[in-house]
Amino acid sequence: MANIGYLQVVRHCNHFCGFCSNPTTPYVHNMDTMKPLVDDFVRRGYFGVILTGGEPTLHPDLPEIAGYARDQGLHVRMITNGWRLADEKFAKALAEAGLQHVHISVYSLKPDVEAALRGLPGTLPKAYAAVENAHKFGLDININCVISKMNADHLHENIEYWIKNHPYIRHFVWNNLDPSMGRAEVNQDQFTPRLSDFEESLRRAMSLLHSSGRTFRVEKVPLCYMTEFAWASTETRKIVKGEERIVHFLDNKQTVRQTDWGHLYSESCGVCSLRTICGGLFDQGDGYDPVELYPVFVDMDRIVEQIITDPSDPSYRLRGIREWKIDFQRRIEAQRGENSGKSKKEGEHPAKMVDTGLKVGAVTEAGEKLWEKKRRAEGRKAERQGISMETTELCDPEDRQAG
Ligand code: SF4
Repeated sequence: MANIGYLQVVRHCNHFCGFCSNPTTPYVHNMDTMKPLVDDFVRRGYFGVILTGGEPTLHPDLPEIAGYARDQGLHVRMITNGWRLADEKFAKALAEAGLQHVHISVYSLKPDVEAALRGLPGTLPKAYAAVENAHKFGLDININCVISKMNADHLHENIEYWIKNHPYIRHFVWNNLDPSMGRAEVNQDQFTPRLSDFEESLRRAMSLLHSSGRTFRVEKVPLCYMTEFAWASTETRKIVKGEERIVHFLDNKQTVRQTDWGHLYSESCGVCSLRTICGGLFDQGDGYDPVELYPVFVDMDRIVEQIITDPSDPSYRLRGIREWKIDFQRRIEAQRGENSGKSKKEGEHPAKMVDTGLKVGAVTEAGEKLWEKKRRAEGRKAERQGISMETTELCDPEDRQAG
């Protein structure tokens, strides 16, 4: 997949996941603040944009921004919990406006587990209706699933259900939980899995999809837990192809451009045959234990070839391993040159905040009022669920404006 940018259009949500890494902030967007960010993706030659949040369907201008991005030639996607997409009229309007592809998040097909993860009951029927509507109006559908302690043992059962009941869904994405931000950071004990918790179920789930001819990607899982499917690691694919990712966060982070996909490695990684193309352990929140990493001794070139010759993903221009090696070496040297003189501090995030000269949203009086109201309501929900609220993220005073 070529570069796709992420644009958070809102940060509030109608669900209340205890592991949300992007919870409510006082920042808001309107068309005037979103359009320049879309234009910036176009200027950079990006293939597409993913509208996300919070829950992006809660933004009143969502159809308009989807239409604008499509008119600029971007492939337009959205990550959603599906709650509003369950409304047929709304789904139709979005498809007509320009939306082409939806990633519908479903964590568990066991209703009690899904309700515990979502912070409210009744979300599964809505997600199923959203899937049906997306299919009806011609949108491509991915199912996204965050791996957590509560669903780690039945990822494969979810896949069995989707294959049997929704055979037209051809692509799936797993995200291992990011314990570094938001509510995920303060509720690690309840939600962060050990790698070994999901190893077997993920292997079975990937096997099921692969043998049925479906495709999938896995994020934030080190290659020693990907068995024969290392080629499906999002980080590995980006390392191999030299891709970047830009996220416009609707919070104090603002714009983050990620070009370095390596995270945390253990001593055993030093002898691992996949060290060069592995993103290691995503451990910015100290939620995972490097002791779980173990070296693997497999043919790295074969994995690289699977990625660069993938017929479903023609985004990398070189198709031979020899040419790739030359290109890869050139990129490593360029990176070394860029990093020379800069020492990476311990625990520093590989993603870089970049100054694009563009503001991501603004803090208005109305936005602040909505945020304060939301936080009070969410505080009550957190208490009922026995989870902690994320640390309050106050906005930069410069971002505050009347309105
Ligand atoms: S041992 Fe380290 S380098 Fe090897 S696959 Fe595991 S995390 Fe990656």
